[in-house]
Amino acid sequence: MECLSFVNFYGLPIVKSDREAVLTALRRALDVGRTFRVTTMNAQIAYYYLTMPEYQVALKGTLVIPDGVGLSWAIRKRLNTRVSRFPGVELGFELCRLAGKSGESVFLFGSKPGVAEKAATFLTQETGVRIAGYRHGFHNPDDDTQLGICQEISESGASILFVALGAPKQEIWLERFFEKTNARLGIGVGGSLDVWAGVVKRAPGWIQRMNMEWLYRILQSPRKKFKVVLQLLKFISIVNANGISGSIEEKRRFE
Ligand code: UDP
Repeated sequence: MECLSFVNFYGLPIVKSDREAVLTALRRALDVGRTFRVTTMNAQIAYYYLTMPEYQVALKGTLVIPDGVGLSWAIRKRLNTRVSRFPGVELGFELCRLAGKSGESVFLFGSKPGVAEKAATFLTQETGVRIAGYRHGFHNPDDDTQLGICQEISESGASILFVALGAPKQEIWLERFFEKTNARLGIGVGGSLDVWAGVVKRAPGWIQRMNMEWLYRILQSPRKKFKVVLQLLKFISIVNANGISGSIEEKRRFE
């Protein structure tokens, strides 16, 4: 029986277990027919969680996996424990690999027109996954449009849904509409479709190993990322000023 261990970050359980354990738990959860949402959390998402009540609601009940170095730094500093990072772009790829083996299909929702289609070609080639459908992420915000999108996803028969609308939009969208898509696993994947499509490049391996990918991404588009820099600074000041109330939790079953 697979268990995951968690740390408690301001009341939110965050996975502490390594990638292998996470993937085994996700495989099992899909096998037993569970319906669930996954959040990969970086410092920006942690900042939204700490400051936006609507976002707290959106993250409640989701399986939260640490993505970025900022969050693992905060947890190490305040809880004196290490969490194993699993960047969303890598988790999404591994999920496609799992789905490729099991025959489950994936729907790609988000990013600019044309991007999801290119990402679909890449993922199919590299992982063998079947992409049930794709759709760009620029649409009217009214409920009828969202319900139409849910119907499109549902009719595709996809069991896994990737939502690439950026944070906090994608997690809020999943909280409101995931159930209506009839998919079983929903995950916000941020800019991952852009990476898989080859529109945006990940940092070279040595920069990733130095835990500096976040800086690389900011320097790639400093104007666009200016807001993110401010949010990172605010997050650091919250962690330094208040500390993190939390604890290391017992192992818990996730299936
Ligand atoms: N995006 C979208 N619809 C929107 C806003 C953003 O589909 O209304 C897409 C955007 O094209 C990109 C992804 O969401 O592919 C992530 O956006 P961003 O770079 O802002 O977020 P991050 O990668 O920092 O989470």
